[in-house]
Amino acid sequence: MNIAESIRSIKAGLPEGVKLVAVSKTQPLTLIMEAYEAGQRCFGENKVQDLVSKAPQLPPDIEWHFIGHLQSNKVRLLLPYVRLIHSIDSVKLLSVVDQESARIEKTTPCLLQFHIAREESKFGFSLPEAMVFFQSSSYQLLTSVEIVGVMGMATFTEDVSQVRQEFRTLKSIFDELKDSYFRDKESFNQLSMGMSDDYHLAIEEGSTLVRIGTALFGARNLI
Ligand SMILES: *Cc1c(COP(=O)(O)O)cnc(C)c1O
Repeated sequence: MNIAESIRSIKAGLPEGVKLVAVSKTQPLTLIMEAYEAGQRCFGENKVQDLVSKAPQLPPDIEWHFIGHLQSNKVRLLLPYVRLIHSIDSVKLLSVVDQESARIEKTTPCLLQFHIAREESKFGFSLPEAMVFFQSSSYQLLTSVEIVGVMGMATFTEDVSQVRQEFRTLKSIFDELKDSYFRDKESFNQLSMGMSDDYHLAIEEGSTLVRIGTALFGARNLI
């Protein structure tokens, strides 16, 4: 299948209200343009340097999402280009995004990343940490970020029931936060979960944003 066909077939399988983030990390501009010409407008990158070098060379109606671990010292560079940051994994990072957004008079939509996988290495909040944060004055003092939902990555395993359980955990975190802190906020409505191998499961468990790379562009060069 070529990229245009992959885009169409993946999109045809998404229920209403689920959006495709085409993960274009490591992919060249030519392939991103193939996806663009097939109608794809939302792309995800996991390195600041790559996103900021690609964005100005591609059509301005592309919506860029940042999905990787974000270092505080790169926030300033990223902000002018990014539509949604999926990977806010600490209070400190969120406050830097807030300050830098205020500086350029912008509001930046963000998702809080939660640690739902068994693996040690994955970044993110736990539910208790997030609850402490939402009750704190550091949350009240934010002016220029808008938290619009949560993101998570399941364990890399063949065990479908394990993956399903982790997605279910993330959905329950989303519901709990919505109920406790965002009851009146329509904008808190995004649940970013599901990648090439597990997005069908993620959708069954309530995903609204699926981040798909390999199933769209083919295998990445591992360099
Ligand atoms: C690379 C990446 C994806 C896409 O993974 P695929 O398995 O290629 O679909 C999704 N989310 C994040 C955070 C990634 O880094």
